[in-house]
Amino acid sequence: MTTAHEQSRNRLVIGNWKMHGNLADNAKLLAALRPAVSTTQIAVCVPFPYLAQASEALKGSSISWGAQDISVQKQGAFTGEVSGSMLKDFGSTWVLVGHSERRSMHAETDQLVADKAQAALVAGLIPVVCVGESLAERDAGQAIAVIERQLAPVLAQGAESVNKLVVAYEPVWAIGTGRTASPEQAQEVHAAIRAALQAIGAGNVQILYGGSVKASNAASLFSMPDIDGALVGGAALVADEFLAIAA
Ligand code: PEP
Repeated sequence: MTTAHEQSRNRLVIGNWKMHGNLADNAKLLAALRPAVSTTQIAVCVPFPYLAQASEALKGSSISWGAQDISVQKQGAFTGEVSGSMLKDFGSTWVLVGHSERRSMHAETDQLVADKAQAALVAGLIPVVCVGESLAERDAGQAIAVIERQLAPVLAQGAESVNKLVVAYEPVWAIGTGRTASPEQAQEVHAAIRAALQAIGAGNVQILYGGSVKASNAASLFSMPDIDGALVGGAALVADEFLAIAA
């Protein structure tokens, strides 16, 4: 069965709020985003405590929302964890898995990230699987090998699963640093990811670029053939800038 999400490479821009925000600031940001009308699909991934606020503020708008992590467990004695069904309770569509900050600060392995992607799919969420190399890995000529290693357990889940997710290529050296990959550098990796997806029959999966995306560099990145949109950190906290990226 093909869902509406599968097999479409529509432009997609997702904001990752990380651990930013409070009720008052979020209310202003969400109110500014709410009226957006765009051919680009726009979404925000907010901290867990603000999912209820996002769902209230965005209900009925064209903007969807989600979370930044998910437990591989369904329920039980897992203190501090949040399950996919809890995210669904608040109307979430998306969940980030394997963001580099979770891989590096919480020792998330490639297999755990793949298991989180599977848990999201089981819950009816769309996982955004984040991959990316460090600067040392890039300098050693290992960028594509690292990304292929990170993706391998995800691709092992097969085309039926993979066709329902989104991949985000986020070079670690470009996240929050103000240093963006050039469109050509990003395209080279996106093409390699596309080839790996194609090899298992999932060539139309959306591949987002992330890493210091701003209104001023979005158009040149989006002009590349295998870049389908962006995962945006810092600039997602400023409504005008975020909407300008989507525009
Ligand atoms: C991110 O956190 O996913 C990200 C891309 O951050 P920034 O846009 O701030 O580099």
